[in-house]
Amino acid sequence: MNVIETINLQKHYQIGDNSVLAVDGIDLNVKEGEFVCISGRSGSGKSTLLSLLAGLESPTGGEVRLLGQHLEEMNEQERGRFRRAHIGFIFQAYNLLPQFNAWENVAVPLEIRGIPLQERKEKSMEALEMVGLTDHAEHRPTEMSGGQQQRISIARAIITRPDIVFADEPTGNLDTRTGTEIMSLLTDLFRRWGTTFLVVSHDEDMHRYTDREIRLKDGKIEKVIVQ
Ligand code: ADP
Ligand code: ADP
Repeated sequence: MNVIETINLQKHYQIGDNSVLAVDGIDLNVKEGEFVCISGRSGSGKSTLLSLLAGLESPTGGEVRLLGQHLEEMNEQERGRFRRAHIGFIFQAYNLLPQFNAWENVAVPLEIRGIPLQERKEKSMEALEMVGLTDHAEHRPTEMSGGQQQRISIARAIITRPDIVFADEPTGNLDTRTGTEIMSLLTDLFRRWGTTFLVVSHDEDMHRYTDREIRLKDGKIEKVIVQ
């Protein structure tokens, strides 16, 4: 089954007289359990494509289907619910809440769902164990290294057992060695669980972890490299 499917996807931005086709007719199919890397230079349309795939922005043309469901046919509320039920996100800057400690950050998706405190804490500790950070459960983000913060954000992304994980430059703020550790961790977990994984990155080494690299140029697919 195609977990991610786009047909002639387009995003047009118009600012004053300046018109940009940030995403220009992308056809993409990602199968269940597949790992895909979206690469390309700055300005090639990677972030825009990711926002469209995740339903964070609406396309100006074409369509996106996730798990067989059309994002365009959902209203804002349904899209939000769909995202919370099926998608995990990992960001370059971790996006942790500074006033919360590690396990409280990991528990945020459960809190949104109204899960009681005790269960939130237990599930968070399980997720922290999977990323090897149970001993940092009470630490705040500012007391942790970049690699540790990214592990916390991974625990937060997997706590809901998402079908799809989108990562936006997950190694962008990390040194090479830490980046390699983070990618090994992510790919080990997702291979084990059969999670579909799409990562956007201009890191030259990212293709090592994925089944397919899709290189963008000027909003179009320039090249597909199958590993
Ligand atoms: P990348 O992630 O590969 O750096 P982006 O998707 O951010 O590329 O940008 C693709 C093109 O779309 C660029 O020309 C950028 O300037 C333009 N763009 C991106 N977001 C916006 C926006 N919100 N408004 C106007 N133009 C945008
Ligand atoms: P169980 O269903 O009894 O929790 P599993 O063998 O399915 O056991 O999973 C082992 C551990 O891995 C569990 O603690 C679970 O939290 C975690 N896990 C399994 N699948 C996923 C997934 N798709 N996403 C995140 N965590 C998962």
